[in-house]
Amino acid sequence: MQQHNQVAPGDLEEVRRFINTWSIPNQTRVETDVLPMLVKDAHAWARELSLYPRQPADNLDMLSTLRLALRQACADHAQHPEALNAVFGGVPLQARVQPNDGVMRLQLESTQGTYAGHILAIVANAIAAGHFSRLKTCGDCQWAFYDHTRSGNKRWCGMTKGGPQGRACGTIAKVSAFRQRAAMKARAADT
Ligand SMILES: [Zn+2]
Repeated sequence: MQQHNQVAPGDLEEVRRFINTWSIPNQTRVETDVLPMLVKDAHAWARELSLYPRQPADNLDMLSTLRLALRQACADHAQHPEALNAVFGGVPLQARVQPNDGVMRLQLESTQGTYAGHILAIVANAIAAGHFSRLKTCGDCQWAFYDHTRSGNKRWCGMTKGGPQGRACGTIAKVSAFRQRAAMKARAADT
């Protein structure tokens, strides 16, 4: 069974992990939010989410709003920038330039020292670098994954039916598309 690499490159993986604090686990198929638990437990936060410490401003309301905005953006990158713009509006970022390989590279940094600022700076830098659009949520199970395909057209997470995670995301859509193509071929053959 082919294993799909869903991990995001570099620090964008921090963003993916944050988005997936809300998920529909395969075992239960029940919507699960671990953020309230992580906000209360600094050890669990460091162990399961990030080595970047949570600040008092990173309360559950703020983080839930940020996560929802990121989920909306990752579900459809071409539309609905409003939610992401709204959270950017509340988190000031500062531009820094650094020479890299003989050219100036722009790097955005949070001035707040908050976890939300840390995450948004990563998002802003990934958007500027042009690869944030590859961070997507699965059309079926909503799991956030990074699209490593050459085409960048992947719509479903890599959980396949035969794997240990035993899920078949996109199967119904793929089967109906296959049937549609087969029906069209049959019609074309009749004429
Ligand atoms: Zn999925």
